[in-house]
Amino acid sequence: MKKLSLLFLVAILLPILVLSYLGYNTFAKRREAVKNLLASSLWVSAEAALRSIEESLLEDESKALRPENFSRLVDAEDNAVALERCSFQGTRVHGKLFLVDRSFQILVPKVTREEPEFFPWPASSAGGPFQNSLARAESLEFSGKAYSQAADIYRKSAALASSRRERAVALEGLGRSLLLSRRYDAAIDAYRELVAKYSDKENRAGHPFAIIARLQLSEIERQKGGDENCAAILFELYQKMRNGTWPVNQTLYEFFAAEIDSRLSPLRDQGRLAEIRASMEELRGQSSPHLKALIFTDLLRTEALTEIRRKVATLPTIGAGQKGRFVVGSGNDVTLISFSVLPEFKNQGTCLGGFYWEPGSLKEGALPQILDAISHDSGLRLQLIGESGRDVITGEGRAVFTNTVTLPFGRLPFPWKLVASQLARHDLEREVRRDNVLYGVFLAVIVTLMFLGAILILRDISREKETTRQRSEFVNNISHEFKTPLTLIRLYSETLERQEDLSREEKNEAYEIITKEAERLTHMINNVLDFSRIEMGRKEFNFKSGDLPEIIRTTLNSYRYHLEKKGFLIHAEIAADVPPMEFDEEAIAGVLINLLNNATKFSSDRKEVTVRLFQKGANIVFQVEDKGIGISAKESGRIFEKFYQVKNEGLTEAGGSGLGLSLVKHVIEAHGGEVQVESEPGKGSAFSVILPVERPASRGK
Ligand code: ADP
Repeated sequence: MKKLSLLFLVAILLPILVLSYLGYNTFAKRREAVKNLLASSLWVSAEAALRSIEESLLEDESKALRPENFSRLVDAEDNAVALERCSFQGTRVHGKLFLVDRSFQILVPKVTREEPEFFPWPASSAGGPFQNSLARAESLEFSGKAYSQAADIYRKSAALASSRRERAVALEGLGRSLLLSRRYDAAIDAYRELVAKYSDKENRAGHPFAIIARLQLSEIERQKGGDENCAAILFELYQKMRNGTWPVNQTLYEFFAAEIDSRLSPLRDQGRLAEIRASMEELRGQSSPHLKALIFTDLLRTEALTEIRRKVATLPTIGAGQKGRFVVGSGNDVTLISFSVLPEFKNQGTCLGGFYWEPGSLKEGALPQILDAISHDSGLRLQLIGESGRDVITGEGRAVFTNTVTLPFGRLPFPWKLVASQLARHDLEREVRRDNVLYGVFLAVIVTLMFLGAILILRDISREKETTRQRSEFVNNISHEFKTPLTLIRLYSETLERQEDLSREEKNEAYEIITKEAERLTHMINNVLDFSRIEMGRKEFNFKSGDLPEIIRTTLNSYRYHLEKKGFLIHAEIAADVPPMEFDEEAIAGVLINLLNNATKFSSDRKEVTVRLFQKGANIVFQVEDKGIGISAKESGRIFEKFYQVKNEGLTEAGGSGLGLSLVKHVIEAHGGEVQVESEPGKGSAFSVILPVERPASRGK
């Protein structure tokens, strides 16, 4: 047994353990390899995705920063048109363009003049003929109140003017004097010329001639009694101011707006006046490009100009196409300002063209569009996360995905991070896990089968050993069994031979014993022969229709003498009216003899045997019951196995071969029936043979 355990350990258990270990190891490595592969591919694709995002945005930037966009700004005929052209509408992104000169002053959008409020005449003109003439006209106008004369001198001064600005100043004086001397038509001509030719100029108080002239024209209309015309001029003026037609700062804007209001309110309601007043009110409620530009330039001044100055300082060279960019704003309103160098731009020297990215268009237009397209192409789930840890586009919290890669922006200075995860990755991992489970189950089944096989082989080996032991015991027993009747036969035949003076009875007894012992021997030899025929598969049955009760009765009778001699009481309850059936007479007689034999062998105190035969449904049952030593429930399952013998302590002379019941079982099963045993240790046993009246066709041979 020790050898066997060792064999089991080395040949079965060890390979199983090695196989399981190798299998597990392979699966673990496979899973790890796939995981690493996926992770590294995620890095590569996330980086590529970020590069694409940045490239797309840079493309948008290039479109916005095209030099022609800025040329259009300065080409605009008036400030209102320039302001309008400042708003840039790209395919994905929109925002505002602006233009800055080399001293970092904002050229466009222009909301105010940079000149001082009261500016002196250029030194060259001081004391010249124009200066002197203008001084005279002013003195006539302001001190002498001689308006007609003053008008004449102003006219002369205009002719003497050496610059456009000087001529405009003279024209303003002329208009004023003409108005004061009530020469309205001439005054209107002067102011109209001022409006037509000098709208880009300002008087010495820094007020645009365009505004001043219109205010004066409205005054002329009022004095002429045309309140309606006066209001129309004021309304148009207000409209143009709101549109930012002339660059004025906030203070001037408010000053003129109040001026317009104060001139409009005392007018009498006549003609279209009520209508104009209503339009004024409506206009006040609307947003104004000028005011918007004011806010925008305010943002540029406070947030952008210093940064642009700093950035330009870091540029290695200042040449065409040089670009810079930086972020402005904070939290959710972070956006980008980009600029490029425009060398020798439109007689203004080197300028900088800038683009302010509208935060709304970036978050709602460009970014979602770009991310969606890249997501779609790459199979990545992409999310932009701001400094606050929230999604830049939706403003919601960060989505929770496992296995992500987080990358900061590289070429664009956005303070955001791109979080990427593989859409298909979870599926892939699940597939690998499922494969592993499948292989694992497969391996487990193989291992279990091997284990079961090993156990079965082990059981077979020990069974074989047991059978070998039983066989040698059988040889031992059977030799002993053969010896007993042979000894008796020899003893009595010798007695008969040697002692001639035996009485008749004594002789008869000797003959009887010889016959009986010979019969017993025959029976035993028959059993052994039958058994070996069965073992070799050569046992044949001779089924013939017969009278079963008759066979049982004659067999019992032929055995009766033997039983009674041993002191057994015999009961026979054999029903006669059972239907005829097919059976092998000799084999059935053998079954009965075997059962009777056992009943005598395994009875000690109460020697009583009952043989019954009766019909039960479609079966005929015959029983052999004794009051002997009985069989325990544990043993009763095994007594039908070949060679099996219960170890009965008290019955040393029982002997036997262990073949009887296995033969009985074989014979009865060949008849399509079955054998049952009911037994209680110490009380006796009853063996029932159940035979079907109609033998199943397949059984017989
Ligand atoms: P054997 O030649 O030993 O009788 P059997 O196959 O006929 O072989 O019986 C197997 C075993 O069954 C016997 O050794 C005995 O222990 C038990 N057995 C059979 N018949 C009886 C019975 N009537 N009463 C008690 N035990 C029995």
